[in-house]
Amino acid sequence: MNRQLYSPLIFELSQPGRRGCRIPDNHLPLADDFLAANLLRGEAVNLPEVDEPTLVRHYNNQSTNNFGVDSGFYPLGSCTMKYNPKINEEMAADRRFAALHPCQPDSTVQGALELYYDLQSALSEIGGMAEFTLNPYAGAHGELTGLMIIRAYHNSRGDLKRTRVIIPDSAHGTNPASAAVAGLEVVSVKSYPDGTVDVEALAELLDDTIAAVMMTNPNTLGIFEHNIPRIAKLVHDAGALLYYDGANLNPMLGVARPGDMGFDVMHINLHKTFSTPHGGGGPGAGPVGVRKGLEQFLPNPRVEKLADGSFRRVDNPESMGRISSSLGNYAVAIRALSYILTMGCDGLAAAGRLAILNANYIKERLKDLYLLPIEGICMHEFVFDGLRDKSTGVTTLNVAKRLLDHGYHAPTIYFPLLFHESLMIEPTETESLNIIDNFIDVMRNIAIEASNDPETVKSAPHNTPISHPDDTAAALKPVVTFDQLQRNDS
Ligand SMILES: *Cc1c(COP(=O)(O)O)cnc(C)c1O
Repeated sequence: MNRQLYSPLIFELSQPGRRGCRIPDNHLPLADDFLAANLLRGEAVNLPEVDEPTLVRHYNNQSTNNFGVDSGFYPLGSCTMKYNPKINEEMAADRRFAALHPCQPDSTVQGALELYYDLQSALSEIGGMAEFTLNPYAGAHGELTGLMIIRAYHNSRGDLKRTRVIIPDSAHGTNPASAAVAGLEVVSVKSYPDGTVDVEALAELLDDTIAAVMMTNPNTLGIFEHNIPRIAKLVHDAGALLYYDGANLNPMLGVARPGDMGFDVMHINLHKTFSTPHGGGGPGAGPVGVRKGLEQFLPNPRVEKLADGSFRRVDNPESMGRISSSLGNYAVAIRALSYILTMGCDGLAAAGRLAILNANYIKERLKDLYLLPIEGICMHEFVFDGLRDKSTGVTTLNVAKRLLDHGYHAPTIYFPLLFHESLMIEPTETESLNIIDNFIDVMRNIAIEASNDPETVKSAPHNTPISHPDDTAAALKPVVTFDQLQRNDS
């Protein structure tokens, strides 16, 4: 990496009187001539004054300081970003979709409704569910939708006592958050030392106040919950429903289906598994699937296929209500269907298996140097508890920062919370053996360097524009304007 280490702000490049454009004289009156005095500024706004080449170079150089999955390998996988084939972007950008308005009459958007219908059918097939809604905007939004569907189900049976949800201690943080937003009380269930849910502890918690049990499988440790059939029976015998957090469906693709395991309601993050870039918080989509018998509770509107082959949007009176303004984040749905169709059944099944193979390959080739707290075959991801050599004081944060010097994005660190030095790696299916081998070499070199020359690793990164921002200060006292920066400097 050969980067300019410090890039000045555009304000720092400003020179009084410099300009990059000249607005032609249009002979119109000045705003001062007709706007009321109280609407006018007292003094000129402080804008940077730069010539055009300076402007162009500034933003162009800034753009290359960005690290994206198009510039290098992300060992933090589909949960954050797996490679998104470009054809899916082209499909989503097609004017024939992009220029549609959500309020157009159904007769004028038959193709768009058909796409919605086809995608929800494909997801139903992949998840083993009866029907999907594509309306929720994100994974957490899908969880909320799913829990509201579950409430609507219990309410429809007059079963009003069920106000609590059981969630494993290893769950993603959005699970308890969504339950709270849905007005449900969260009950935590612990895990066995092997990382899977403690079935005996779960059985004790189940009673007629439990609305649902939320599970992630493989769980956030990348471990397959092999007791699901037993858990499903316990949950159903207690009158509750079993919810599947399928945010990351990568390892399950074409391998196993939540519906076949006994799950009643599930969500999928299209922006994780099905090809939508979502760095920086969006866009996303969290479609929710339900087993047979729960379809009427799905959010409005649904897309229905009529006997003559046409499509229409329908509202159902038993529905949990509306969760989005229309049919969800439609461009994300286009990318997902494009991904599914270009991959085909065989391609999707290969993706899941390759994601698992890649993760296990990296794990096995690094575990002599990095501490593997949970042995055995992992699914799409696995967790190290930092370096094996703990004598040098080199932390997971140091290793992650040192990776940046070698042109790799850092993996997920300090999550899950079950270990002190968690370093979670998810390579996904898209990377070739060469790329993965290079990554392994770099990880091995960093581990060796940590033992021989710990200071170099502790002071990394050495060649990025910013090295050690103070995360805590940034959160407590964010500096978001140039004025604040100047004040802090003085
Ligand atoms: C990412 C993730 C979520 C949340 O999805 P968002 O789209 O970020 O709201 C929920 N559960 C798991 C297991 C996840 O990985």
